[in-house]
Amino acid sequence: MSVVNNDTQVLKNYVGGKWVDTAGGKFGEVINPSTGEIIAKVPLSTKEDVANAVETAQKTFETWRNVPAPKRARLMFAFQHLLVKHHEELAKLVVQENGKAFKEAYGEVQRGIECVEFAAGAPTLLMGESLNNIAEEIDSEMFRFPLGVVGGITPFNFPMMVPLWMFPLAIVCGNAFVLKPSERTPLLATRLAELFTEAGAPDGLLNIVHGAHDVVNGLIEHEKVKAISFVGSQPVAKYVYEQAAAQGKRVQALSGAKNHHVVMPDCDMDKAVSHIISSAYGSAGQRCMACSAVVVVGEKGDEFVAKLKQKADELIMGSGFDDEVLLTPVIRKEHRDKVLDYIELGMKEGAELIRDGRKEMDEHTEGNFLGATIFDRVTPDMTIAKEEIFGPVVAVIEVESYEEAVLIANDVEYGLSASIVTNNLKLAHQFTKDVQAGTVKVNRTTTGNLMNAPFGGVKRSSTSTFRESGRVGLEFFTQIKTVYIGY
Ligand code: NAD
Repeated sequence: MSVVNNDTQVLKNYVGGKWVDTAGGKFGEVINPSTGEIIAKVPLSTKEDVANAVETAQKTFETWRNVPAPKRARLMFAFQHLLVKHHEELAKLVVQENGKAFKEAYGEVQRGIECVEFAAGAPTLLMGESLNNIAEEIDSEMFRFPLGVVGGITPFNFPMMVPLWMFPLAIVCGNAFVLKPSERTPLLATRLAELFTEAGAPDGLLNIVHGAHDVVNGLIEHEKVKAISFVGSQPVAKYVYEQAAAQGKRVQALSGAKNHHVVMPDCDMDKAVSHIISSAYGSAGQRCMACSAVVVVGEKGDEFVAKLKQKADELIMGSGFDDEVLLTPVIRKEHRDKVLDYIELGMKEGAELIRDGRKEMDEHTEGNFLGATIFDRVTPDMTIAKEEIFGPVVAVIEVESYEEAVLIANDVEYGLSASIVTNNLKLAHQFTKDVQAGTVKVNRTTTGNLMNAPFGGVKRSSTSTFRESGRVGLEFFTQIKTVYIGY
């Protein structure tokens, strides 16, 4: 049962530099996943709230677009300074509302800071191209211009990093932004808005409208929203992409995943196991790049499973504020129910349950805990080998050859991240070419990426329009004008 805290914070929207109430007066609950305690009430805003925020952002855009790029970049330097100063506080907020371990939250805040550092390079990044004498007495120049008001819709699992993939880059390019954070983790976004304002952001540049599908639909339908950046689950990504594109908006939509780790017989098995433990069970398997299927090639399947089980047995489950803990709760009880359904399905479809994390649920009745779960003898046609589970569940598939392993990794609808562990450099290179994934790792965990490199997936993991981050991310937030000058 959830415990109501009398000091429960009631969040507001942030529009035009002011904290405002939602027009509809409805609220949802923000719950600490480790304790079940209600830590805040989040407005479930209306389309009217969205329209107010978009109109306000549009007004700010009219002046912000003309602010010189170096001055826009200076806002990012000031913001970066404040984020560094409040690093620990922000990480604690992530632990509180998302439940992940403090060390991971601290790393996530660091990734967010790196996004702002990249955005601060705007004066260089935004430079166009030119060519003199493209014909007699004609020069040509290419400039980048902002789009206008951009909407951002973000998931619960990275409350710091994903909003920071979006709004610093969009804003430094000259756009104004309306952010709709996940209604399950809205606290961090609220704090970011405060710090952005303290850094000197003009009123109306970053607006926050809390809520759920009504806010998303409000952004999709508003004609002054020129682009939508979305990160979340596959069905919602598809919906947002189709609806927003039909309205003529520019859309990038990053979505679900099924990330494979291929374990070759020549690898350092202990290292492979340690990577998989960290990738599969960190953040309770709720990272988009989490490993959820391991394909073991050759005769070492039993050895691998025994080692994986041994390390999983050693994991400490508990609150993210406990330094020794790696395995933290999943976001909500309803989400855990979905993961439990997958465990039932895995057994029903004939996989062998080597480690049953359900047995540890009774030790932590307050939060949404589920112990590390391992299935062996999984076949590629089983549901647990194909669908995104987004919980601490690993499916082990044993095969005879590298070719079979690649076929299995590619025979899923997703393609976000994949990793191979091997000492064979030639095979490792081959894997980077063969596997259908937006990020490929060699002798590394499937998780983790660089904030100034492009990020996204193939197949159903992303729309094939634009990637997030880096120069490619910047392209999403700008449009190009080509100018020809004759003399
Ligand atoms: P989600 O799809 O439930 O929610 C994402 C956003 O969409 C939230 O802001 C939510 O309010 C909104 N939303 C949810 N249902 C909606 C609906 N019916 N109509 C309109 N809007 C709706 O995703 P989540 O559970 O918060 O996040 C986990 C998912 O995000 C996983 O599938 C994960 O793989 C994915 N993810 C992907 C990446 C990536 O880079 N590819 C990164 C992080 C998370």
